[in-house]
This record gives sequence, structure tokens and C-alpha cells, in this order.
Amino acid sequence: MTSLQGSCLCGGVRFEITEPFDRVGQCHCEFCKRISGGYGTVSGRARTDAIRIVDGQELLRSYTPDGGSAKTFCSVCGSNLFGGGWPERETASVRISAFGLDYDRKPESHSFVRSVAKWEILPDDGLPRFDERAT
Ligand SMILES: [Zn+2]
Ligand SMILES: [Zn+2]
Repeated sequence: MTSLQGSCLCGGVRFEITEPFDRVGQCHCEFCKRISGGYGTVSGRARTDAIRIVDGQELLRSYTPDGGSAKTFCSVCGSNLFGGGWPERETASVRISAFGLDYDRKPESHSFVRSVAKWEILPDDGLPRFDERAT
């Protein structure tokens, strides 16, 4: 497989993923809504070893909410890039928004639907829904 290239909005951070994601899912938890400005994050699950920062390592900042895992973003443009405790844990979440409009693997599940907001529309797309983490 050729590696998948990602970047933040300003282009200062560039990275690549060297193996296919185990899964891709949408997270509806409150943390993901707050950092995304919308319904939550859509992420691919990868081994941390398969995530390589090509450029802009010094621009990355992480924030760990109480009761959650670290979320990492570009300090220039604010794009959320990694979650799930990257880079401390063995596997991490990679926000698929970093791959642009032509990336075509769709989410395969909805997690943390217990945290769907009153204003939020949960699509009737037939995908499995999980109260908490997808299994
Ligand atoms: Zn940026
Ligand atoms: Zn989440």
C-alpha cells in the first residue's frame, strides 16, 4: 500500500500513515463535539508506529481533558489531527478531515451516542451505534 498523506488546514503539519486503518468511526462524545465545532470527530484507528510526522512536529500541541484521552492539534490553525492519547499509547485516532475531500473510506460506526446533543442530528444510515466506545 502507498502511504496516506495528511495535513492540517494551514499546511504547517504534514504526516503520513503507513498502513490501512483498522477501522474508521464517528465519535459523538462531548469532547469531540467541542474540539470539532460540530457533530464530533471521524477518525481512523492506527498503530502509533504507523503514524509518521513529516513536517511541523514543533507546531503540534496536545490537550488532555479530564476523563478523556489526549487530543493533538496544530497550534497555528487549530486543526485537530490526532486523538486517543497519541503519541503515548500503542494505537491512536487520526482525524480523517486531514486527508481532504477525496479520501473515500466512510465511517463504519457511531460511538458515544449517549452524548448526542439535543441540537444534533444522528443520521439514519444503518451503521452500528455504541453508547460508548465502538467494539
Ligand atoms: Zn496548521
Ligand atoms: Zn470522542
